[in-house]
Amino acid sequence: MNNTMFLNSIRSVRFNSNGFHPEKLEEGQKSATASQEQLPGFNQQNLRNARIQMIGCGGIGGSILDNLVRKGCGHVDVYDGDDVELGNLGRQKFFPSDVGKNKALCGARNAMPHASWPTEIVAHPVWFEDAVNHGMVGGASAAIVGPDRDSTRVYSSRYFYKMCPVLFVGIGTRAEHGYVFVQKPGEACFACLFPDATTNKRAPCPGTPAMIDILLVTAGLVLTALDALLMPGRKINWNYWDIYPSGAILTQPLTIERRKDCPICGKFG
Ligand SMILES: [Zn+2]
Repeated sequence: MNNTMFLNSIRSVRFNSNGFHPEKLEEGQKSATASQEQLPGFNQQNLRNARIQMIGCGGIGGSILDNLVRKGCGHVDVYDGDDVELGNLGRQKFFPSDVGKNKALCGARNAMPHASWPTEIVAHPVWFEDAVNHGMVGGASAAIVGPDRDSTRVYSSRYFYKMCPVLFVGIGTRAEHGYVFVQKPGEACFACLFPDATTNKRAPCPGTPAMIDILLVTAGLVLTALDALLMPGRKINWNYWDIYPSGAILTQPLTIERRKDCPICGKFG
């Protein structure tokens, strides 16, 4: 089977959960997300109406996905062409019975019981670049990009630059730090932050150390930044934050400015 025939045979799978709809509430009973709805500026309806494109459903995407639907996000598209390996189970949201199966399909299915509102996750068992080439990608409120290779980050930066904000997450090669970068249309892009990424063709080495701790730290930052993108009343004062949980290197949230000679956003004027 050649690559085109293989891709044409791929089936995206739609998962739906009813969650706990407020219409089912009894008198005096609070909704599943009532606590967060009390926060200043929090807009549950915006989160419910959001369409999130999640690129990658391994350690990073999986750590975000179940919490995203627990907060009440109404729709997520998930893309991942990789299969679950036994060595993933120590940090990624998969079970022993998932080993050998596609990460997007298993990740979407495993996240569904976490949904607190009516939620839809569409799992695309294919690499994002191939999904774009086959017209499988729809509109988006925001995208979350977690794969650990620069070629996918650069591709996603360019693809979404004018369409919607993108949240990039990266983890250090010894799991000692992790960053979140927020790319907004018209503002600094991924290559403004990492200019060398556009020419870096290296894939991560198999067997690179990894751990769940830093995934949870960055997942929390992503959820906070996403709220700020979807809700005018929630603010963050950074677009880049690289954190070392051990405190070995002290960092602070930063604002990355656009570069005029940027190989990606420079073309967009
Ligand atoms: Zn740029």
